[in-house]
Amino acid sequence: MQENRCICCGAVIPEGMQVCPECTEEQEDEVPEYSLIVLQKEEQEEGKEMPFILSFLIAAGKYMLISLAWMALEKHFYGEVQPRIVDDIIGTVLFFYILKGEIL
Ligand SMILES: [Zn+2]
Repeated sequence: MQENRCICCGAVIPEGMQVCPECTEEQEDEVPEYSLIVLQKEEQEEGKEMPFILSFLIAAGKYMLISLAWMALEKHFYGEVQPRIVDDIIGTVLFFYILKGEIL
């Protein structure tokens, strides 16, 4: 009578099976790595679905940090924070590029 043997390690296994329980477990251990990759892909796709609001918020946060640093520098060099139209124009251009950087 021919015994069923595991195709991986050659151990004797019950009829109808191709792989012994040990090798099946080993294969299952390898599965999470694959499912992790799938999960990462799904996360990336989710990120593409609502990027603008998130990008906008991140860009706004960075812009505020730069503005705070800007005001701190003005206070340091001029002695006071000077609201200037030039600052607003440069700030708008700056914000545009920060936002562009966050979206791409
Ligand atoms: Zn085996």
